[in-house]
Amino acid sequence: SALFGPSRRNSGGLDLSSPAVLAQLDLALAAVATPERSAPIVDGRERENQAAKPVLDPADHRRVVGEVVDASPADVEAALASARAAFPAWDDLGGEARASILERAADRLEADRARFMALAIREAGKTIPDALSEVREAVDFLRFYAAEARARFSQPVRLPGPVGESNELMLGGRGVFACISPWNFPLAIFVGQVAAALAAGNAVVAKPAPQTPLMAAAAVRLLHQAGVPPQALHLVPGGPAIGEALTVNPLVDAIAFTGSTATARHINRLRAAMDGPLAPLIAETGGLNAMIVDSSALPEQVVADCLESAFRSAGQRCSALRVAFIQREAWTRIQPLLAGAMAELSLGDPALLSTDVGPVIDEASRRRLLAHGGRLRHAGRMIGQSACPPDCRVGTFFAPMAHQLDNLDLLQSEVFGPILHVIPWEAGRLEQVLDCVAATSYGLTLGIHSRIDATIAQVIARARIGNIYVNRTMIGAVVGSQPFGGLGLSGTGAKAGGPNTLIRYGVERCLSVNT
Ligand code: NAD
Repeated sequence: SALFGPSRRNSGGLDLSSPAVLAQLDLALAAVATPERSAPIVDGRERENQAAKPVLDPADHRRVVGEVVDASPADVEAALASARAAFPAWDDLGGEARASILERAADRLEADRARFMALAIREAGKTIPDALSEVREAVDFLRFYAAEARARFSQPVRLPGPVGESNELMLGGRGVFACISPWNFPLAIFVGQVAAALAAGNAVVAKPAPQTPLMAAAAVRLLHQAGVPPQALHLVPGGPAIGEALTVNPLVDAIAFTGSTATARHINRLRAAMDGPLAPLIAETGGLNAMIVDSSALPEQVVADCLESAFRSAGQRCSALRVAFIQREAWTRIQPLLAGAMAELSLGDPALLSTDVGPVIDEASRRRLLAHGGRLRHAGRMIGQSACPPDCRVGTFFAPMAHQLDNLDLLQSEVFGPILHVIPWEAGRLEQVLDCVAATSYGLTLGIHSRIDATIAQVIARARIGNIYVNRTMIGAVVGSQPFGGLGLSGTGAKAGGPNTLIRYGVERCLSVNT
């Protein structure tokens, strides 16, 4: 069948074995030493109204990557009022013109790839391959939503009707979107939300995560330089208080949120208590993601895919593998391979190409992982652990670990980091495994490793999961090919980077004329 959607190409990779490419990255990393800055950007002007706080490198807290000035409630109010005033003109501009601006931003971002990669490495502790994926995904979101806006938000669609009547369906913006994003994809998700909202014709006030304000500020400047009117896109850095100030402001017509399930629920409650028009919440939240492995699976492939899915990005992907349900016979063969492979993982400076796993984002995150690791040590059987670098105390490192458990009693909600749980299961008990997955009520990603078609079909038929991956890793959804997002506790949809995403950021109006 024909491929869905307008033609478009995803951003290309880089040859990381090329000395020229690495030299360019080294230069960009050295340039980060000139501290970056993030501040409220309202109407294109960067506010200086509060004391700046340092933003530290999670791999080495002695290194100041930049500084951030948090937004005040007055900044939020000013940004929203300006966005509200700017909305009609931005919406009226039409999908075609907005698409051209977003594509120009994509080209600039791609051209400035080394700088943004360097920032992802220093501000978010991303390894070099992760930093590259981060920038590519942001570029892809810009081009993907631009193409969607051009195809669907430019011209009204004519609908059938009787002779003497014309019917048209018009897609346009909702108004002012508040975009609230997490630190774990500080560029890709930040830009993805903003690009979707802008493409559909909305004005945007964006709040990045407090851990990663620098990349967000750099992205907003780039979008303005590419032609997004400063009144149509504002940045309000800050933590939960600024998120709440946005959430409860009646000037906000809709919210795009990506982050934890608990925060999404909190935002939902705050909005529900408000008077005025009903504002939709698009929430992409956490997961308790499982991989189901039967005895027909290839052990070496399972080990490689478990390592990648559970420990890449220090396990700080919402899609990451948390629980591997492995059939007992297969587990006997897989366990020593997994333990051996984990011992080989190299933990350390993310700016080195030899590093597999970088730091976790901050001390609060490391403490949560240490507490969970302590409970696991007490209750379960440790299967494997990677080694910490000798100087790991300069940053927030947490060595990947894997534990065998009998059930999910110790894992009732998402634990965000490089901890893998393994639960062996007996032949003939696949349905009980599926019950266990369903009982978590999350529905983000699921991996299946099997060479038996009937088993794969049985799992797919039961699983209410947004993204299912068969005989491969379960991370790294590709824009336009693997629309990403979950069900149940994992989110409301719309999926990011899919053919139905943009419509969720817009409104539909129908015009019927008696001709
Ligand atoms: P978080 O919920 O702590 O924060 C997310 C954003 O919400 C941040 O900008 C934060 O400042 C803001 N926030 C926090 N409290 C708020 C409040 N009371 N009101 C308004 N805003 C508030 O999440 P995090 O730690 O930044 O990110 C990690 C989480 O994100 C994980 O749960 C992960 O699974 C999830 N995530 C989901 C997806 C997805 O697509 N489903 C993608 C990436 C991350």
